[in-house]
Amino acid sequence: MKRIQSPAELSQILAPLREQNLSIGLVPTMGALHEGHASLVMRSVKENDVTVVSLFVNPTQFNDPRDLQRYPRTPEADEALLSSLNVDILFAPEVCDIYPEPDLRIFSYPPVDTVMEGARRPGHFNGVCQIVSKLFGYVLPDRAYFGEKDFQQIAVVRKMVEDLQFPLEIIPCPIVREPSGLALSSRNALLSDEERILAAHIYATLRESVQYAMTHSVVDTHNFVVETINQRDGLEVEYYEIVEGSTLQSVKDWSSSETVGCITVYCGEKRVRMIDNIRYTR
Ligand code: AMP
Repeated sequence: MKRIQSPAELSQILAPLREQNLSIGLVPTMGALHEGHASLVMRSVKENDVTVVSLFVNPTQFNDPRDLQRYPRTPEADEALLSSLNVDILFAPEVCDIYPEPDLRIFSYPPVDTVMEGARRPGHFNGVCQIVSKLFGYVLPDRAYFGEKDFQQIAVVRKMVEDLQFPLEIIPCPIVREPSGLALSSRNALLSDEERILAAHIYATLRESVQYAMTHSVVDTHNFVVETINQRDGLEVEYYEIVEGSTLQSVKDWSSSETVGCITVYCGEKRVRMIDNIRYTR
């Protein structure tokens, strides 16, 4: 595995490979890697001749400076894991490599970037589009791999790809969970053992709500999820929205072909912000 820090060197190394018609897969990450990331990487390694994994904690997508500061970083373990997964190139730039000048670009894709996370984390998706568009520009991948844990992120990135006409395919990958059902997340490292057990109630409740939804309205199902989770000391729902899968607009009934419930919950003393989602199929 080759480790590269500079965007120019990355583009230079990839150009001849592309000329040989080798396919390139890109997996963007912020590091502190776990099996969720590994599932994206393994899929890219299987489906492409060359896999590039980027490891960069992108400051422009953090609206809360404390969140950026305490974001877990484990670069040595990340490098060892990626090497064991047969990744070809690890792209690990510093902030000054990516943003030698402030990025003043504004991306706006209403309504998908204005609801849910977009409404609560001002600037978040703008930062995501800034970094992802830069990565796409350096790597020019054939395929880019994203986890469905960040369901809204996939919808926003799809809009950006359409808008900027990047000739690539977005590959959504299923959420990898702990045996308890808790979605794997780099932020889980910030939880104590007890808080991890508590956090497992988020997905347990979402699962229960799929059953509940069979005989209840959307509003009742929404309230069931919020009330059940909020009953637990140490969990506080920030929002739960039951939306249509591509427009991300709230649904009033169960008639859409893809209906997804998206949740954000604060967990424990440090109020770690956890996200998850579930599909309702009837
Ligand atoms: P992050 O490092 O948190 O920016 O995540 C990098 C990529 O890994 C994103 O596309 C995430 O959606 C994806 N990812 C994170 N956690 C999981 C998980 N538990 N299962 C599947 N994909 C995940």
